[in-house]
Amino acid sequence: MEDYPNIATLRDLLRSPRPLTATATATASPHFPSTSSPPPPPPPPPALRPTDHHRVITSLNRATIIVGTLTLPTSFSVLPPPCSCFRFSDSSATVCCDVLQFQPSCIGKEIRVTAWNFIPFKHNHRGGSGGFLEIIQWLFSNSCEGLKGLHHVDSLPLVPNHRNDDSSKARYHVFGVVESVGPVSVVPCSTAVGISDLNSSSKVNLPGFLVQLMCCECRLCCSKHCNTDLISGKLAENQNGNGHSFTKMQIVYFCGKAYSWHAAITKLICKRIMVSSLKKKMIYITKDESRVMYVTADMSVFHVCRFSENRMPCLKSYDIAGKGECGTYTGVIKNVYMQGMALELDHDVWLLLTDELHTSAHGLRVGAIISVRNVHFMDPKFSWTKIIILGACIKTSIIVESFSPLETGCNVVLQPRSMLGKFIQSLPFSARLWVLLLASSLRKKFAGTLSDKEILGTQHVIYFL
Ligand SMILES: [Zn+2]
Ligand SMILES: [Zn+2]
Repeated sequence: MEDYPNIATLRDLLRSPRPLTATATATASPHFPSTSSPPPPPPPPPALRPTDHHRVITSLNRATIIVGTLTLPTSFSVLPPPCSCFRFSDSSATVCCDVLQFQPSCIGKEIRVTAWNFIPFKHNHRGGSGGFLEIIQWLFSNSCEGLKGLHHVDSLPLVPNHRNDDSSKARYHVFGVVESVGPVSVVPCSTAVGISDLNSSSKVNLPGFLVQLMCCECRLCCSKHCNTDLISGKLAENQNGNGHSFTKMQIVYFCGKAYSWHAAITKLICKRIMVSSLKKKMIYITKDESRVMYVTADMSVFHVCRFSENRMPCLKSYDIAGKGECGTYTGVIKNVYMQGMALELDHDVWLLLTDELHTSAHGLRVGAIISVRNVHFMDPKFSWTKIIILGACIKTSIIVESFSPLETGCNVVLQPRSMLGKFIQSLPFSARLWVLLLASSLRKKFAGTLSDKEILGTQHVIYFL
């Protein structure tokens, strides 16, 4: 008689003072594999060994799954939003989460989380939840979803249940490879025509983010008529030998409620997507300089093929010149310094984060394998050591490729940042690393003598587990 996995509720997990981990049974129960074909297994755990400082997360003694719904953040009550993480809800609670093997089709659907870590926050963060769920493996609860196949194209409305008004202007579509995703920022607007549920006559704060896509200019890609057959054909077709050439840069501004797609689009960097029913705007940068930008509307629809190869080559280690060139780096987080503003990765690589990046990345824990996209490679030419600095900018995104198996804390950031933190963000990368390490060692040296407030300028704003 085989054991069926236990189903844990989020309320149970939130009661735990320590991080927990579990998987569905190792000897597969007959009930679960039949619901859907499982996604491929996650990458192997990091080579990092548990040390005196970090033990491995406590594993539940019995096979345990979590059943619930993955959603995008939708809160307009707190602006700027505390974080743009995915949310996971069951009948008992909602928490921030991140998910491996992400498919946009899982948004809003019930899933069975068959391998997971749960990291409780020590302090509740502003407008957020009391813990972070790391979804390592999952299945659709509905077996039909899992059977749709890799070439199935999912078309998802950016704003579900919107009022279908002002559709005449939203007639453009953009098809291309996601190159970079900017941070969520809030723009004060005097009117908000077309953004449902917002009072258009009053001043509103509109959250949004910019996505840069590389698009093809062939006749098919530029055709004005955008129907479902065309979309499916373009997204599902073979990447090679189809005559497309993704060389023209286009910008799509995801604004209003569409800001909630930030975490999802970030996961799709290097993948082909299409967004239809967009508005086209001319943006003036200076009096003489302008460019065309596409802006999402409430009726815009997002299309993606379940299987899409990565298109852009990643920078290899032998290509790194350290002269500020932009590329992708994948490594294990070895240490977190100075409130998470500097991360030490393997092979003497230091990642310096921007404010926006490190406020929304709870999964940047010691032991995690991360992939940093569109980051600048800098050789600071320090005389005493050879290191590479990865300098994050507004185009940089971080994706956790494998969650940390170690009992290490999440970054939970509360505003506002300390005065020293603000000053550090204004420095060039090499000076920034130097000051961060200096401030970090001062904090260690004067711990107990001077408060963080005295060292950093205001009450420290980040809590570690
Ligand atoms: Zn979050
Ligand atoms: Zn084309």
